[in-house]
Amino acid sequence: MMRSIAVACIVALGACAPRAEESETLLAEGVAPEALEEMVTQFADADIDFDDAPLQLWERQVIAKLVEASDVIHGIFARQVSHDSEAWRARVDAYSGSAAAEVKRLYDIMVGPWNRLEDDSPFLAAGPKPQGAGYYPADLTKEELEQWIAAHPDDQEAFTGYFTMIRREGDQLVAVPYSEAYRADLERAAALLREAADVSQNASLTDYLRKRAAAFLSDDYFESDVAWMDIDSRLEPTIGPYEVYEDKLFGYKAAFESFVTVADSAASAELQTLKDHLRDLEARLPIEDRYKNPNRSFESPIRVVDEVYTAGDTRAGVQTTAFNLPNDVRVHEQKGSKKVMLRNVARAKFDRILAPIARTVLAPDLSAEIDFQPWFTNVVMHELAHGLGPTTVTTPSGERTSVNRALRELYSALEEAKADVTGLHSLSVLADQGVYDQDFVRKAYLGHVADMFRAVRFGVGEAHGKANLVQFNWALEKGAITHDEATGLFTTELARLVEVNRALATEILNIQANGDYQAAASLLQRYGTIGPELQSSLNRLGDVPVDIQPRYSVKTKMSGW
Ligand code: ZN
Repeated sequence: MMRSIAVACIVALGACAPRAEESETLLAEGVAPEALEEMVTQFADADIDFDDAPLQLWERQVIAKLVEASDVIHGIFARQVSHDSEAWRARVDAYSGSAAAEVKRLYDIMVGPWNRLEDDSPFLAAGPKPQGAGYYPADLTKEELEQWIAAHPDDQEAFTGYFTMIRREGDQLVAVPYSEAYRADLERAAALLREAADVSQNASLTDYLRKRAAAFLSDDYFESDVAWMDIDSRLEPTIGPYEVYEDKLFGYKAAFESFVTVADSAASAELQTLKDHLRDLEARLPIEDRYKNPNRSFESPIRVVDEVYTAGDTRAGVQTTAFNLPNDVRVHEQKGSKKVMLRNVARAKFDRILAPIARTVLAPDLSAEIDFQPWFTNVVMHELAHGLGPTTVTTPSGERTSVNRALRELYSALEEAKADVTGLHSLSVLADQGVYDQDFVRKAYLGHVADMFRAVRFGVGEAHGKANLVQFNWALEKGAITHDEATGLFTTELARLVEVNRALATEILNIQANGDYQAAASLLQRYGTIGPELQSSLNRLGDVPVDIQPRYSVKTKMSGW
């Protein structure tokens, strides 16, 4: 019965009568209105703002065009999530039953009726999400597509491509290029990008915008990905089909997304300072000189920017604080890849998540000292520190190989730990050289201690969680972090923490330098379990939000431009 009403509503599209008895059918079976409220409170409202004062008129005009194009991109992504997204959007907009405000907010956060924090379980009466999302016929199985390709080998390339969707035509399966499947929207987005290019006064930005507009209509993104690597402009847009996570059937199909961002001169100057020191920091790693690599390239492109607006894949669910693109390996070979760090998103998460975590688990005198800028500098240093330390190594069995190959499945966790501990060690070196003051670096260490709880909170099966757990247990064992039985809070002695961090850096860098799989395994095993004191702290974090929901200031700003 509930189902037939739902179908009638979908057929009628926007015409669903908001009568209470029909409205109640919108919630998934077994999902109470209170549960929706709880899901919504996991996302803290956060203003995402940027400084528009230094922007020239043409830069504001480009931003306005890109925001408009992003809204078009968001509509395409919604169709990639589900074949029924337009009908669902209409039903949600018309809904006035219980928890109506939460339904609308959650639908916007998730871009669809499925909870992205809980394995896509439906919170509205949509049934399970098709694994192939809106990319494939909803009833298509993996086997059917594989059999089709086996019987039609000429279809292989088009069917498994990033930029096609699969449709049924009669009893046939066909691959439809994005440029056809989303033609009207992509023509509109391309027109907006060309209009932005027309007013742009930065050649590298103009080049990217024109090439990306052409790619929307040709499905060939290579040239525009190369142009994106070469953008040298205060405005840093990233718009197109990129990640394949939404396609849980095969992981072939790329989801549309957009980041409109601006760099500010202070952040760029600080980043340049850190980069200028990388060769020296490599020389000062706490390992024997023969393991150091002073002749490696320290040129990997990294930008620190403020987010102006986002759309599509990246706006859905958990907010991105940093991304590394493009994914095309042909571009990697020619140009490498570029890391973009979103400072104001990191700031919002710091205020709404990390600071409350610190107040819940750390002694008050420590949590009062947690400060955004030292913490964020450390996050940037972590990224740069991935580029420090051993790369090509000789293993204990005498094999010449990469650290990655030698440490196999243990590599990711150990590499994340390395970036943390050598990053912090490097900040200490920079403090000793007077580049940063000692108090700033002290606060960077403190922020990292709070961050350990944040990372471990989401489980230690993943590399970052495991890496942080190892550091936490190492510091706990060596007395740099201590637990107060009476208050249940942790405290840390900073001078001791600097010492034990350096010792762990030496330990990890030596494991990497020797490609020593056994030593990596025993380190991760010995320090990789959650003890009772840590667990009781994690248990107290239930009220701290899981993520933020961005409230972009750009549209308000634009109305005054
Ligand atoms: Zn990392």
